[in-house]
This record gives sequence, C-alpha cells and structure tokens, in this order.
Amino acid sequence: MIPKFSLHEPDSIKEASSLLSELKGQARILAGGTELFLLAKLGLSSWQHLVSIRNVSELNRLELQRDRLRIGAAVTHRILERSSLVQEQFPLLAELEGQIANVRIRNVGTLGGNLAFAEPRADPATLLLAYGARVKVQNSKGERVLPLKDFFVDYYTTALALDEILTEIEVPRPHPHTTGAYLRVRLTERPAVSVACLLSCDGGGVKQVVLTLGGVSPKPLRLESVEAALQGKGLEEAARSIEGESTIAAEQCTPFEDLTMSAECKRHMVKVLVTRAFLEACNKAKAARL
Ligand SMILES: Cc1cc2nc3c(=O)[nH]c(=O)nc-3n(C[C@H](O)[C@H](O)[C@H](O)COP(=O)(O)OP(=O)(O)OC[C@H]3O[C@@H](n4cnc5c(N)ncnc54)[C@H](O)[C@@H]3O)c2cc1C
Repeated sequence: MIPKFSLHEPDSIKEASSLLSELKGQARILAGGTELFLLAKLGLSSWQHLVSIRNVSELNRLELQRDRLRIGAAVTHRILERSSLVQEQFPLLAELEGQIANVRIRNVGTLGGNLAFAEPRADPATLLLAYGARVKVQNSKGERVLPLKDFFVDYYTTALALDEILTEIEVPRPHPHTTGAYLRVRLTERPAVSVACLLSCDGGGVKQVVLTLGGVSPKPLRLESVEAALQGKGLEEAARSIEGESTIAAEQCTPFEDLTMSAECKRHMVKVLVTRAFLEACNKAKAARL
C-alpha cells in the first residue's frame, strides 16, 4: 500500500521550486508517476509530499528553436511519438518513443521522468546521448545547463539535487547529411541492451559517426574508439570493418548481469547491435546518396 502523502499542484516552475526548497527533502516530484508509484508499492520509496508538475505549462512545451529541439520535461512519450515536428526533424526519436513500454505508460510517462529516474536500460538516454543533448535544471536559486553525459552519475542516480527540477531537454539538430539507427533487444518489458548510431556523410564517406550504448553500464556510454576508427573511411570500407570494430568494443565493455540477460549475452548483443545499427545507417546513407 502507498503511505499517505500531501499532494501539491503548482502551476509554475517558480512555485514548484519554492515548494521543493520549503519542504527540504521531504518531497518528491511527481510527473507521470509510472516509476514513483511502482517503487512506493514495492516499499522501496516513501515521501510525505509530492509536488506534481503536470499543470506546469512551461514544462509541457515542445518546439524547434534555432536548430534545437526543446522538450519540456513533462512532455509525455506519446506526445513525442505523435508529434509531426519530431517525426520530420528527429525521426529516430519519434520511432524510439513509439517503442517504449505500451500506450498506457506512454500516455502518462514523461521524458523528464524517464531521464530523472536514470534506469540504466532506459531507451531515450542512449539516443539523446548520441544527439549530444543537454538538460536544464532549476531550483529556487537559479538554473544550470548540463550535457546529458554529466547528468547521469550512477545506477538510478543523477546530478539533480533534491530541490532541483529537470525543466528541459535540448536536442541539437544534426548535420544535414546525417542518418542513423536505433536498435535494442528486449526479453521483458524494458530493453536489455540498446545501441544508437548517428552517421554524417560527406560525398560517400564517413564525416562523423557517433555510437552509444545503453544497458551495459550504470550510465549510457559512447564508443569513442570505434567512432575514431570509422571516421574518414569510405562507406563501403567502413561497412567492411564494422564487425571487427564492434568485436573490440564488446570485448572492452564490462556489462552488468541483470534479470533479463547474463553479462556474456549482453556482450554478444553489443557486437551484434553495433554492427547492425552501423550497417543500417550506411544503407540509409547510400539510399539517400549522402
Ligand atoms: C511496464 C513498464 C514498461 C516500461 N518500458 C520501458 C521501455 O521499454 N523503455 C524505457 O525507456 N522505459 C520504459 N519504462 C519506463 C517509463 O518510460 C518510465 O516509467 C517513465 O518515462 C517515467 O516517467 P514518469 O513521468 O512516469 O516519471 P515518475 O514516475 O513521475 O518519476 C520518476 C522519477 O523521476 C523524478 N522526476 C520526474 N520528473 C522529474 C523532473 N522533471 N525533475 C526532477 N525529477 C523528476 C520523480 O521524482 C521520480 O523519482 C517502463 C515502465 C513501466 C512501468
């Protein structure tokens, strides 16, 4: 059973920040509640106060501003999946959002809640890291902006202080000749391992490639040595070398075992998914003559 609590429903970030600062660690932010209430029912979390951010209109904005997609932290997975702006400008993000959980969870679960919960196997972080996303966080004293890589600290742990609200996720629009792929393997409701690949081309060659991995370490990570090995190669040559590179990447990573998969199986999946994601991106680049 969920213990009794007081519910606060501010309608601005300022009001929500003041409440969090007044309640000094006794309050938690409530977005969609899909994780929060699950933990409470399992007896793993309890709070005297919940500060709901559902009615805060500033946190529900979704817009493209000067080549950056700005996503308010309370925007739901379902809104992102169905947004024509996201579908046109960030198709991989729209596709990913459409794969999360089921429609009931997507209708209430928010992107901000997903990132703030910092579940190491969550989908959005893997792709948003590849895009080079940044997050804005705010408390009653002011705002700070962090690259997503510095937002995640450890398993279920972020750089957020107890009185800070994640307010916005800022995603830069990639180079125009960029394509990519997002692949994941899942045996239960949530993914076990995920890979994102963003490939920018320059007349048939690899101008830049970003590869990220989720589900193998406490926070998502970039495969910088594989990226460096592929950069500057022609597409055909890069495609021929990806299996070797992904084997090295799999050997170098140290996956954790969880209820879904053994560490060894995850390592194998890293090799398979990195290879497939890069080949899928190459095929899209060739089809679009990038
Ligand atoms: C059955 C099931 C299947 C799922 N499958 C997937 C899947 O396939 N892929 C995937 O990626 N995820 C999956 N999820 C996770 C799902 O996406 C998250 O539950 C959801 O996005 C969390 O958002 P929420 O708004 O419900 O967060 P809440 O439960 O409201 O909050 C989660 C945590 O974040 C904090 N928080 C929320 N918003 C903020 C904010 N703006 N600032 C600071 N702290 C904040 C809360 O205090 C709480 O600690 C699944 C979940 C369930 C229950």
